[in-house]
Amino acid sequence: MDYSCSAYELKCNECGKRFGNQPISACEDCLAPLEIHYDLEAVRKDFTREKISAGPANIWRYKALLPIPAGFEPDLPVGFTPLVKAKRLGERIGASNLYIKNDAVCFPTLSFKDRVVSVALANAQAFGFETVGCSSTGNLANSVAAQAARLGLKSCILVPADLEPAKILNTLVYGARLVRIDGNYDHVNRLCTLIADEYTWGFVNVNLRPYYAEGSKTVGYEIAEQLGWKLPDNIVCPMAGGSLIRKIKKAFGELVALGLVEDKPVRFFGAQATGCSPISKAVKQGNDYIEPQRPNTIARSLAIGNPADGPAAAKMILGTGGWAEDISDVEIVSGIQELAETEGIFTETAGGVTTAVAARLYADGRISERETTVVCITGNGLKTTDAIVDRYVLGRAVRPKLADFASYLAELSGVPEAELALAGV
Ligand SMILES: *Cc1c(COP(=O)(O)O)cnc(C)c1O
Ligand SMILES: [Zn+2]
Repeated sequence: MDYSCSAYELKCNECGKRFGNQPISACEDCLAPLEIHYDLEAVRKDFTREKISAGPANIWRYKALLPIPAGFEPDLPVGFTPLVKAKRLGERIGASNLYIKNDAVCFPTLSFKDRVVSVALANAQAFGFETVGCSSTGNLANSVAAQAARLGLKSCILVPADLEPAKILNTLVYGARLVRIDGNYDHVNRLCTLIADEYTWGFVNVNLRPYYAEGSKTVGYEIAEQLGWKLPDNIVCPMAGGSLIRKIKKAFGELVALGLVEDKPVRFFGAQATGCSPISKAVKQGNDYIEPQRPNTIARSLAIGNPADGPAAAKMILGTGGWAEDISDVEIVSGIQELAETEGIFTETAGGVTTAVAARLYADGRISERETTVVCITGNGLKTTDAIVDRYVLGRAVRPKLADFASYLAELSGVPEAELALAGV
């Protein structure tokens, strides 16, 4: 296998040692996580506003700053999801410059995980893996299963046994081998690390993690480009392992370094469920010490009690002058409903977390009304309907007759039938 470096290679976050390109995720000397390091000068001529605009309407328009192996021709139109102005949600929570980055409609499996998986699998193929896998809180499982199917790779996916039924089905349908583990995500992840040492499999978030994580940068590139090559004042982002929020920051830094956007301070705000809030707890205590938790929340996609990038995420958030907040399961459900009722966007529990946290940040005065704030919605509500299904009661079926409809409407609204047309209900 040729591990020689092109414009990028693995580098240790702590000691700076370089490792070329190979399927490993931790430094052999200090055990710190490895990250992809680029020779920015070498990519400068290929990463310009003009070249990017002329590229395809998906994440591959940014491929000069993604770890894509030589010869790989990406063709899956992942990402480039809508950035929409959220006027009505903004009115509700006291924000006049609010945007939603809507990865609930990411291709192909309706979450931001499609971005990271497409980059990881490009590398899995280059490293010669025939079987790929992951430890997942749900969305990653869906995306690995779908994209492995399309590439003709075998997949073996490990999840906590209590995952939402829709996320299980959304994995099985692609023909993946799914293994339910009697434990929480942290147990599943530890097991995957052991499996990756034993079998020659490419685990996207274990031995391929540095490559995988780079895919998240595309959320940051897209936000800046969609704002007209400007950075926002604030980012509100959900946190599980703490990777996405850090990579948005990394993306902004690269755009500044290469002169695509003007430098300005951007504050980062992390969102978690109180039932699994190790990173927000650290931020609130003003340090980067992560005390592992045993998750207990309906936001299962964020339920990582011992987050790999937790310390780095907490440190980054504090360094930008941002904050992290966590909210209860009841507020998660209200957050899902509020986003749907004001903006017509149906998000999963993680998006309920982000929406409710954004509302709290405005209410507490941590973000002020006029600042440009982007709220990252990362997953689709159709995958977690179990979280809200009991909030809605189905009415009885009505016969297809105008009179029946009128009396049903009267019954529903409590307005006598004779006055209904006037009342306009
Ligand atoms: C995985 C996931 C996240 C968090 O990602 P990290 O990079 O692990 O912090 C956020 N939202 C959804 C819907 C996810 O599936
Ligand atoms: Zn090191």
